[in-house]
Amino acid sequence: MPDLLHRPRRLRRTENLRALVRETRLAPEDFVLPLFACAGKNIRREVSSMPGVHNLSVDQIADEAARAYDTGVKGIMLFGLPEAKDEFGSGAYHENGIVQQAVRSIRSAAPDLVIMTDTCLCEYTSHGHCGVVRDDEVLNDPSLELLARIAVSQAEAGADVVAPSAMMDGQVLAIRDALDEAGFEHIPILAYAVKSASAFYGPFREAADSAPAFGDRRAYQMDGANAREAMREAELDYAEGADVLMVKPAVVNLDVLRMLRDQFDVPLAAYHVSGEYAMIKAAAQLGWIDEQRVMMETLVSIKRAGADIILTYYAREAARALA
Ligand SMILES: [Zn+2]
Repeated sequence: MPDLLHRPRRLRRTENLRALVRETRLAPEDFVLPLFACAGKNIRREVSSMPGVHNLSVDQIADEAARAYDTGVKGIMLFGLPEAKDEFGSGAYHENGIVQQAVRSIRSAAPDLVIMTDTCLCEYTSHGHCGVVRDDEVLNDPSLELLARIAVSQAEAGADVVAPSAMMDGQVLAIRDALDEAGFEHIPILAYAVKSASAFYGPFREAADSAPAFGDRRAYQMDGANAREAMREAELDYAEGADVLMVKPAVVNLDVLRMLRDQFDVPLAAYHVSGEYAMIKAAAQLGWIDEQRVMMETLVSIKRAGADIILTYYAREAARALA
């Protein structure tokens, strides 16, 4: 017999021993569920590439949010599919826009739920880009004014947190200034700080009907190959007043998430995106993997890498499994 002083297996012998020494634990309050509000009544339209995810009319989304809250999920991230789109995405900042209506309806169905709103233009613009377009270019500074208007109108509707995702330079500061000026200095900003241009958003574009009509988003979203630039993006958003920094997509950026964790003391969020969800769903439907275990391993890895908040389409299933 070898003379081994350290035998890590000693602490793996039973489930209760393993539980005592487990370093990373998930809890229902780690999760935020993304929801998609659409126009109409009594609509519950499943997104074909995201089984279990629906476009929901305002009446339906309130029920869905309340049910999520009952499973232990404490927050949602709200996206909107407006009835009509225009060049300047005016549906995003109209007081009766789809998200503004959904916020009010969810608030009355689930008063204590944390309602976060995605603050961007792409779901509302006829060209599908996240800013103002001129000569096929997405202009930075003219877009800031619109993003700030969206954030203020979402706060007026009753959002608890606004979440700018357009990747325009200076968007956090522009939104902070506008919120403060409108009397919303108490509303935090969750900044999509590190958001790379990614093919993993594919199913989301179907869910949110937000594919760009021309070109792609690489002239404003980050190059996923750049970790040092990711740190600069995070530093800029932090300096502009971001309360929470987010990394997106989560699974392909676990190293970046860890780098942010080591550098910043503000809460970190990570978005387990549509494609990352769809891959697990598809493999599970084929019987190739154990969905429940792969889901949990994925979510644990995101938390272990440093996330305090995990946005995931699995929020309800995971909360239920942990209850
Ligand atoms: Zn966008």
